[in-house]
Amino acid sequence: MQIAIDGPASAGKSTVAKIIAQKLGFTYIDTGAMYRACTVIARRNKIDYGDEAQILAAVDHDGIRFENIDGEQKVFAGNEDITREIRTPEVSANVSQVSALSGVREKMVSLQRQMAGQMNVVMDGRDIGTTVLPDAEVKIFLVASARSRAQRRLLDLQQQGIKSDQTVEQIEKSIAERDYKDSHRAISPLKKAKDAVEIDTTSMNITQVVDAILAEVAKKQKNI
Ligand code: C5P
Repeated sequence: MQIAIDGPASAGKSTVAKIIAQKLGFTYIDTGAMYRACTVIARRNKIDYGDEAQILAAVDHDGIRFENIDGEQKVFAGNEDITREIRTPEVSANVSQVSALSGVREKMVSLQRQMAGQMNVVMDGRDIGTTVLPDAEVKIFLVASARSRAQRRLLDLQQQGIKSDQTVEQIEKSIAERDYKDSHRAISPLKKAKDAVEIDTTSMNITQVVDAILAEVAKKQKNI
């Protein structure tokens, strides 16, 4: 079974996707982490964020891997653990430029489909229901107000111990800028799939969102 969860930045996708994967015994695939890893690789190699050929060569050379260590999903570029680095504001501010490159998308989408072909997955991102897994049995589109998403992001950064001087207003602005870029790029822009169920999480807690998605999964399972 494939469960696709899409939506704008900080709508709570990864938090609920992880819980659902755990409850169902599925594998969670964080596709945003893959584009973030490409951005870190570009940064570490001092490659311009628009230089597709060099970024692809560096990604091929280093290799991006997920590893489960003590129940936590870690992201590696070569042998380097970049799990924390991919979440820094610098990477968040530049990832939309890297993820808009057609060659980068082709490579990531092909890796994502390969992973999803081998196991039951919960995959979150921007184009999972529209492009990566158009036949996913369950498609969810999570939305929330920009302010509540900024508050969640700030809390996330604090909980992960990532230092940031950004105020909630600044985070809201950078989230809005990223959403604009992600929704207006030429290839696979952020968009609700026609057959996706939209859930507005602004006034919902995590358990309520998880339950709403599990109810959609149960509906599909009844029909299989
Ligand atoms: O989900 P997250 O906020 O970590 O994603 C980081 C960025 O990666 C997004 O802003 C977007 O530019 C890109 N992305 C994408 N397609 C996906 C997942 C993420 O373009 N499926």
